[in-house]
Amino acid sequence: MYPWLEITFNALMARYRAAKLHHGLLFMGVADAGKTQLCHSIAKALLCKSVLAHTHVEAQRPRLFEPDDAFESPHKTAQEACGTCKSCLLIDAGSHPDLHVITTDKSQIGIDAIRQTIAKVTQTSQLSGNKVVIISQIELMSESASNALLKTLEEPTPNTYLLMTTNESQRLLATILSRCEKQTIALPSYDQSCHWLRMLQIPEPSKAALIAHGSSPITYRNELENADSIGFDDFVMTLKGLIDGSDTANRAALKWHFDAPKVAKWLAQHWLEIYKNNKNEFAYENYQACLIASKRMSHPGLNKSLILTSLFTQLRSIQVASFH
Ligand SMILES: [Zn+2]
Repeated sequence: MYPWLEITFNALMARYRAAKLHHGLLFMGVADAGKTQLCHSIAKALLCKSVLAHTHVEAQRPRLFEPDDAFESPHKTAQEACGTCKSCLLIDAGSHPDLHVITTDKSQIGIDAIRQTIAKVTQTSQLSGNKVVIISQIELMSESASNALLKTLEEPTPNTYLLMTTNESQRLLATILSRCEKQTIALPSYDQSCHWLRMLQIPEPSKAALIAHGSSPITYRNELENADSIGFDDFVMTLKGLIDGSDTANRAALKWHFDAPKVAKWLAQHWLEIYKNNKNEFAYENYQACLIASKRMSHPGLNKSLILTSLFTQLRSIQVASFH
């Protein structure tokens, strides 16, 4: 569990135990904020036998307080999955019959994937508990897939929870949005990010380095684990060289063409910071140009060095703010 998501997790589990958890939860926010991980933690807790047993005891206990009291102290009533019951072990093994995860490597989630899963959850649960469906990036659903999901959201089957994530909620049907309970998941603060990275024995990044990784410590960690990847410090050094003229755009582009989309993304963040500080329109134009270039360069067959060279050339056209 990412520490910056604990409050949301605890609040939702407190509502589950008060029998007030919505059957369709949509987690919105930028990529790499931890939304999918949160879905998996909630799914595990909803399926855990120990949590279930505890929840039944709570429900049978005479109520000495108003139901809404549970919301005031979510930390006291929340519970994570035990990790040792049959259900938890099956989840860890990736073979729990009542947990259905829909993801796609392609650009679209089709109707077949949604239909097959819905058919499974309309049956009674295999382990006589809850049934959970996790769908990541629901903005990738085709229109027919969206409509099929909408029916389930409108007429939920008992003991079934749909946990969904989206990076682009503006692409979703208004009817889907209105049928879900929406939770916005924010990125952790710089201090929270550093704290989490330190727990992983990863030296804390500078503010600029974290910003270059979309302000996400998860992205930052993933990049570090990629041994072939360009180090951010190296990027900053070269950028300084380009600005003061000790390095050339051509040479830098040749050096980095193998990871050009990432370099373009870092460069985009650099321009965005300049724009935020100076409101310089030229910086904003370059920010957008870098983002477009980063997307284009993900396609094979393009001359990446050439595109990078043109992006780097812009650096000398303006007195840029330095990194700290
Ligand atoms: Zn368990």
